[in-house]
Amino acid sequence: MKSAVLLVVLVLIGVAFALRGAGASDSESTERIVAPTAARADYPAPGADGKVSMEPAQWRERLNKEEFYVLREQGTERAFTGDLWDHKGHGTYTCAGCGQELFASETKFKSGTGWPSYYEPIAEAAVETTVDRAWGMARTEVHCSRCGGHLGHIFTDGPRPTGLRYCINSVSLDFVSGEPAPAPAPATSPPKEPSSAGE
Ligand code: FE
Repeated sequence: MKSAVLLVVLVLIGVAFALRGAGASDSESTERIVAPTAARADYPAPGADGKVSMEPAQWRERLNKEEFYVLREQGTERAFTGDLWDHKGHGTYTCAGCGQELFASETKFKSGTGWPSYYEPIAEAAVETTVDRAWGMARTEVHCSRCGGHLGHIFTDGPRPTGLRYCINSVSLDFVSGEPAPAPAPATSPPKEPSSAGE
């Protein structure tokens, strides 16, 4: 009888840990939703300041439930459930919220964590960080510098040359095959029409 009670307790503890590992609130669906692996055609256009700023309701219209939970509510997808943790290919990982280029495939490495892992972003300005004190820990949160979408966290147990591990949610990313797009030319004023008026 005692062993039966012990078994039930152990099962309940296991279920509790499984639910906690999901990183989702009770109201969240545990349904697996994977991100597309191709760039979307309709990312929101940045404003004059180069940022994408939208209200939560607008993001809800654009993103599926899990994308909204991770990108806009700092959620975490379950390890080994995303479609990019073991993804291989030559190309660029972009923000699923706004399309900004974030990571080059050459910097992706096998971390064994179940999340896509990179040792550095494609450009220093592509990402920004904050200190995340959730779960009683002080972790470095990383998000897209254009739309503010939560990407994941940075740890210091990565490989050379940086020693960093950008631990990123698959649903925060899209993937574009091939060479990265050339950086946009800096804004310049339009060329002046040659004046026909004589001096
Ligand atoms: Fe973004």
